Amino acid sequence: MAELLKNLVAGSWVAGKGPGTALLDPVTGAEVARVSSEGIDLASAFTHARTTGGSALRALTYAQRAALLGEIVKVLQANRDAYYEIATANSGTTRNDSAVDIDGAIFTLGQFAKWGAALGDANALLDGSRAKLGKDGAFQSQHVLVPTRGVALFINAFNFPSWGLWEKAGPALLSGVPVIAKPATATAWLAQRMVADVAAAGVLPPGALSVVCGGSAGLLDSLQPFDVVSFTGSADTAAIIRAHRAVVAGSVRVNIEADSVNSALLLPDAAADSEAFSLLVREVVRETTVKSGQKCTAIRRILVPASLYDAAAAAIGAKLGAITVGNPRNEKVRMGSLVSRTQFDAVKSGLNQLRAQADVLYDGSKQELVDADPAVAACVGPTLLGTREPDRSDVVHKVEVFGPVSTLMPYRDLEHAYALIRRGEGSLVASLYGADTQALARAALELADSNGRVHVISPAIAQQQTGHGNVMPQSLHGGPGRAGGGEELGGLRALGFYHRRAAIQAEAAVIDGLAATPLAL
Ligand code: NAP
Repeated sequence: MAELLKNLVAGSWVAGKGPGTALLDPVTGAEVARVSSEGIDLASAFTHARTTGGSALRALTYAQRAALLGEIVKVLQANRDAYYEIATANSGTTRNDSAVDIDGAIFTLGQFAKWGAALGDANALLDGSRAKLGKDGAFQSQHVLVPTRGVALFINAFNFPSWGLWEKAGPALLSGVPVIAKPATATAWLAQRMVADVAAAGVLPPGALSVVCGGSAGLLDSLQPFDVVSFTGSADTAAIIRAHRAVVAGSVRVNIEADSVNSALLLPDAAADSEAFSLLVREVVRETTVKSGQKCTAIRRILVPASLYDAAAAAIGAKLGAITVGNPRNEKVRMGSLVSRTQFDAVKSGLNQLRAQADVLYDGSKQELVDADPAVAACVGPTLLGTREPDRSDVVHKVEVFGPVSTLMPYRDLEHAYALIRRGEGSLVASLYGADTQALARAALELADSNGRVHVISPAIAQQQTGHGNVMPQSLHGGPGRAGGGEELGGLRALGFYHRRAAIQAEAAVIDGLAATPLAL
């Protein structure tokens, strides 16, 4: 039996009871580790984080906490090679795909370290400017932001064990709020190892960062009113969290990042031989195949002018045909596996649902796997589906197949395209492709209410653009409606979730002293 990974709770490493759940190599099926959260004293874990961890973090200024993030970056960088090995073994990702998770996390933390340093030696943040409450201005109001006196519980999805942890922990720790991370079971190893390395380096004060690996039972029951929960995962689990007593009765603040049927839209001015057309094709192929399509931001729906439907199908299909699929340890392999056989089954069943209302334009399931046994490995070839009647299909706008699958659809005019995109009922990201900057600006605003991010690709920035699905810490991540209604990142906006806003009404001299006033601990 593989090693049972311990949990870091109440400042100690604790093994859960029983044999635990096995984590597998999704390519070979070999057991790589075990996790168990059974029997853990969650009440003590949460109390220790809230009191010991929270007090220690709040005693520091923003600049001091930013320096801690910088120290975490150094620890993670020093252990990068081990993380790549774990990602290959437990997530089945190629080196390039592991980088999105591992180096993406390090980059994001580094950004928050830099932005946090600029906040200086303050213990509270002022929000906006002061307002006069009386006629003579002697009595004033100033809004302040102070760190919430609770814990931040992170419940994360399986596809980003590293980035999912640190893109949340960066803003939380910088805000002065201790973290309890619960990685998704299937890929928990990487998050657990990273926390272990940071703990061993003694970078953070005791109680600032805990990790619970294994089942989620009891986590939500441990929440108290000043705690916050940041969740990434499926809409079904999100609904359970939203309905929990801690949220309904205790007003525990919740951020939800759920699934999303994201779009890519080629503007009507593009021809089949235009650069915009090629940029769309390249981006769709990249988004379909990076991390085997297991990105919440991946392109799921491709909208092109009706006259370009066949050309787009041919161009995308040809490029997908060149993608080699199999064991990520083999250098010839461009796309590794899904994270588990369970996901493999989920992708197959989602594909069947979509195929009931769409044609298969490129079928990667016929491709031979490199160095992998199709009966064991969670590898699936890329698939391009298409429907010429996107108005009559509901599943293509509803069902997110969390794998290398996207659906092409034609539109008549831009109003039709916008209506189709909105049938996703709120998404994380839409990308636009064209050369007319005025038309792109109009379309971007048109889609900004239904997409958390609009990524606009034009020939002028073809080389510099950061990618439809790449979540940059400078930009908002989250989307309305079925995408969960959450907001993460967006530079220092991310700190808002971990702070409480209060209005201080006082004489001007008191207001003058607010930013320099340390919090009572
Ligand atoms: P999931 O089944 O909802 O699991 C997500 C997390 O919730 C896991 O840590 C899981 O733990 C935990 N969980 C399950 N049941 C729970 C409960 N009753 N109470 C508390 N926690 C519970 O989702 P998934 O299948 O892992 O993730 C894939 C989905 O995530 C996709 O639909 C994808 O679109 C979405 N996603 C969204 C984003 C985004 O940023 N918007 C990013 C990545 C993924 P166990 O693993 O132990 O079951």
